[in-house]
Amino acid sequence: MNPPQWRARAPPPRRIPQRCAGCGDDGVWHRWGVRILIVEDEQPLADAVARGLRREGMAVDVAYDGDSGHEKAAVTRYDVVVLDRDLPGMSGDRLCAEITGSRAVTRVLMLTASGTVSDRVAGLSLGADDYLSKPFAFPELVARLRALGRRATPAVPPVLSAGDVVLDPSRRTVSRSGTPVELTRKEFGVLEVLLAAGGGLVSSEELLERVWDENADPFTTTVRVTVMTLRKKLGEPGIIETVVGSGYRVPSAELAPG
Ligand code: CA
Repeated sequence: MNPPQWRARAPPPRRIPQRCAGCGDDGVWHRWGVRILIVEDEQPLADAVARGLRREGMAVDVAYDGDSGHEKAAVTRYDVVVLDRDLPGMSGDRLCAEITGSRAVTRVLMLTASGTVSDRVAGLSLGADDYLSKPFAFPELVARLRALGRRATPAVPPVLSAGDVVLDPSRRTVSRSGTPVELTRKEFGVLEVLLAAGGGLVSSEELLERVWDENADPFTTTVRVTVMTLRKKLGEPGIIETVVGSGYRVPSAELAPG
């Protein structure tokens, strides 16, 4: 007898945006958007920038001095910290060194009142990834943050494959031995998550959370049925392995470099 396949409770509501909230691109690598911390003691400026970035779809936190910026950066993994150089409390330079020293994934964009070459060099030598002098044009800040956010997020290669099965997340296509395979959105999503796991085990619950929305049938039989139709469409030999009671995996999944 198989162990029970149903879930005790419905999955928590969770919306997966079809497009990256941070940059508008459609793709797995920055599907989750960009999380920003602004550390700036000029409150009207900090608030205006935060409002503008939120309108751009970014998740934004604000700190008005170096110490509270330091506290926030210590507990949350930000993609990018927009850091004023001249701050009360912990200085921008020291905070920059702390952030870039302890968390390699967080990028720092330094803001300064003076944009002299020596300032710029000093900021970059402390580990800042980019530099913008005040006053700056808001669109330029947005463009730079998007570029930094993309660099901060671990990239999933654009093309995923397992043997002769190839999935292209950006074109939303799947083929086997060069022949296109037509999949429903859910089937495509399941295959994408399984391939992106690089041979790792993915539970039915995780598939349910990542591929279905909050209106999903709360039973993992939904996943089982979708995997069944997916297998049928992909044909033989099968690439998806069932690990009874645990989930699924594609042992031959490869993360091909883009
Ligand atoms: Ca300042």
